[in-house]
Amino acid sequence: MAKKIPHRLYLTEEQMPKQWYNLRADMNIKPDPLLNPGTLKPVHVEELYPVFCEALAAQELDNTTRYIDIPEEIQEFYKMYRPSPLIRAYNLEKALKTPAKIYYKFEGNNTSGSHKLNSAIAQAYYAKEQGLTGLTTETGAGQWGTALAEACAFYNLDLTVYMVKVSYEQKPFRKTVMETFDAKVIPSPSNTTRVGTAILKDNPNTGGSLGCAISEAIEKATSAPGYRYVLGSVLNQVVLHQSIIGLESKIAMEMLDEYPDVVIGCAGGGSNLGGLIAPFMQDKLTGKATPRIVAVEPASCPSLTRGRYAYDFCDTGKVTPLAKMYTLGSSFIPSANHAGGLRYHGMSPILSRLYHDGYMEAVSVEQTRVFEAAVLFAKQETILPAPESAHAIRSAIDEALVCRETGEAKTILFGLTGTGYFDMTAYNSYLTNSMQDYIPSDEDLQKGFDQLPKVERL
Ligand SMILES: *Cc1c(COP(=O)(O)O)cnc(C)c1O
Repeated sequence: MAKKIPHRLYLTEEQMPKQWYNLRADMNIKPDPLLNPGTLKPVHVEELYPVFCEALAAQELDNTTRYIDIPEEIQEFYKMYRPSPLIRAYNLEKALKTPAKIYYKFEGNNTSGSHKLNSAIAQAYYAKEQGLTGLTTETGAGQWGTALAEACAFYNLDLTVYMVKVSYEQKPFRKTVMETFDAKVIPSPSNTTRVGTAILKDNPNTGGSLGCAISEAIEKATSAPGYRYVLGSVLNQVVLHQSIIGLESKIAMEMLDEYPDVVIGCAGGGSNLGGLIAPFMQDKLTGKATPRIVAVEPASCPSLTRGRYAYDFCDTGKVTPLAKMYTLGSSFIPSANHAGGLRYHGMSPILSRLYHDGYMEAVSVEQTRVFEAAVLFAKQETILPAPESAHAIRSAIDEALVCRETGEAKTILFGLTGTGYFDMTAYNSYLTNSMQDYIPSDEDLQKGFDQLPKVERL
């Protein structure tokens, strides 16, 4: 090898980005606007104020400001756990006997065990600045709830977390971590809200879903004074905050004289992927480079690969604005997939638009193949990956294996979003051969599509 590239590259504090990058500014075709579900007209920023704090509502609707300053307090907070390392997967490459160069950006070096803290701290900051007293949210696998609990503890904000019931039961220690940071954790659906009570009445044994937990959290936020609701993915503001991942990655790769041929990320609601790809997608949108961009989703919850591009509610309770996105329908409740963070029915409207317009590819993978990749990666790279992240690993390995056949030395960059220490039930079921691959039939999906709202925009 001509030039020895270090295993781990960290930026210095001076090199860290001081602005987030807003991908929408460089999109010729913007994501379709959020619609008020009553009037079917694009929402005005004030209509979002009962739910979101004002600064975040403005970020949500901002399609034009290319760079947005990261407030200094947030920059300082970031320095406690950022920059995250860009790592060259030398050992994995060797194990795969591939000529490909594999890099990953590792976001698991904080207590939440994921990238979610990047947006949690921003959302808590703006809430505090507006003088709010508390926040509510949902959490699936628990990473978002944990990240937000950390952020709220930092800013002395109250926090109520509705946790999808299957995760609550599978991961009791997640709850304890959140409680350590003073969050109140409620399994969803619950009897603490009208929407939860109604869902339980129809379906008493449901394990819940993210969409349902969102409805509960919004109901609680809008009925308690001084409270607002915050969301850990899907929204434009979250993709904006997560651009820190891609901006750091791009600077680090430039220092190595590298540029990715392919950028890969797992996609639940699209926030880590949207953040990781942001500056590379910018190059693509502005004609500077043509990296391939790949979204990886579970075969059990295939919103990009098998969903519809349509207006839909962001939650099961149908209280949110309508977003145009790839969706399985807000009534879709996925199987109890172990990658809890990838069980959302929809997808970021930004990524949906880019995918629809051909700037991005998507693949879906089955659970057992994901865990096979997770275990191989853990043994080679010594990091125990989150099952969500392992979707990206699977796809990166598949790309590297293609390179082994073709002899091409491609540069692959993927997002390693987090660690899997709370996912031992899932690892155990893989290791004991009791894990099953669940793939919904076309009929299963049709039920979700049938309930899509009928939206004819004038
Ligand atoms: C939440 C989560 C995801 C999926 O969410 P996105 O918004 O699609 O990024 C992926 N990996 C980890 C570790 C997560 O916690």
